[in-house]
Amino acid sequence: MEYRSIKRCGNVKVSEISLGCEGFIGKSEEEYKIMLDKALALGINFIDMYTPNPTFRINFGKAMKGRREKLVIQSHLCSVWENDEYLRTRDIEKTKAAFEEGLKLLDTDYIDIGMIHYVDSEEDWDRIANGEIIEYCKELKANGKIRAIGLSSHNPVVARKAVESGLIDVLMFSVNAAYDLQPANEDCFVLFEADSYKDGMGVDPDRKLLYEVCEKENVAINVMKAFGGGDMLDASLSPFGVAFNEYQCIEYCLTRPSVVAVMAGCHTIEEMEKVVSYYQATKEEKDYASVLAKIERFNFSGNCMYCGHCAPCTVGINVAEVNKYLNLCLAQGMVPETVADHYKLLEHHASECIECGRCESNCPFGVSIIEKMRKAKEIFGY
Ligand code: SF4
Ligand code: SF4
Repeated sequence: MEYRSIKRCGNVKVSEISLGCEGFIGKSEEEYKIMLDKALALGINFIDMYTPNPTFRINFGKAMKGRREKLVIQSHLCSVWENDEYLRTRDIEKTKAAFEEGLKLLDTDYIDIGMIHYVDSEEDWDRIANGEIIEYCKELKANGKIRAIGLSSHNPVVARKAVESGLIDVLMFSVNAAYDLQPANEDCFVLFEADSYKDGMGVDPDRKLLYEVCEKENVAINVMKAFGGGDMLDASLSPFGVAFNEYQCIEYCLTRPSVVAVMAGCHTIEEMEKVVSYYQATKEEKDYASVLAKIERFNFSGNCMYCGHCAPCTVGINVAEVNKYLNLCLAQGMVPETVADHYKLLEHHASECIECGRCESNCPFGVSIIEKMRKAKEIFGY
């Protein structure tokens, strides 16, 4: 297992492959323990708990007993349990009661990431950012009941607004290659309808910008729907008309800027083993770029997908990273200080490019890399 840091949560290290909680639901108390034992044995230390289901919380609390500190828990605020189902709410009293009950049932004093649940419209975010919910989150953070404030969203425009507000530390966002081709939409199910793609599409600039802004603001992204609810893995359901494998989906997410973890909704031990076997997969098995490049309906041409296919550069430049920082500056119309710092830390810089063209012949997306290196040199000065 490899780990990545969540900078705005005390640099806590989380496993790149982590767990959603849906696979625990409906299992016996004993099975919770078996699942959690296996997750920890595989090196998984990060779990998302969107549900306020009391049975889940009680059983997970019992399974976790004596090893709380081994886990990084992301639990959702504004998600409450009513009439045997979970509901999204913005009612402050219900939110407070559900959070306090969650601590009790999980038998813990704190939650690592208090995630504001499912914010997909700007009006909703504006109400949260200017109201009691965000004040409550700040209060929880100040008194140590949560270590970081998170927000879950499917909408890149809303998510970016939240990230740029400086109010959130972590973003849970739906990421996969199909979603990245779509315009912002409040209904994530529309993203998988064939009609959404009939005219052909390129990379959605809002999503691209979101990832880059997260990187600039040190907001860590953890990914939901990496497999598109399973549709990405099935040629008949995938909007691309070809199936990706699990490794390609994971690799795609882990190569997006700012992503720290993919939350896999594993229901069985075998499914957990399968996603973690990503680390034994070959480069070819993980290669999503060659699949995307062959899909005729889409036009990725000229867009850097940060896939790293162009490596190795003759002089050792990390082209994907340089492109990432360059795009961020171009999108902002300036060189933000944090981006300049990141660029400085690269071992080799754009100015070292000898324009041999080796990388360009390896790029499946036809990116004019030499031109990009020239531009990066111009913008960063070296
Ligand atoms: S330049 Fe091309 S090959 Fe290199 S990271 Fe970008 S898209 Fe991938
Ligand atoms: S053209 Fe520049 S960036 Fe590409 S491989 Fe050659 S030296 Fe590296």
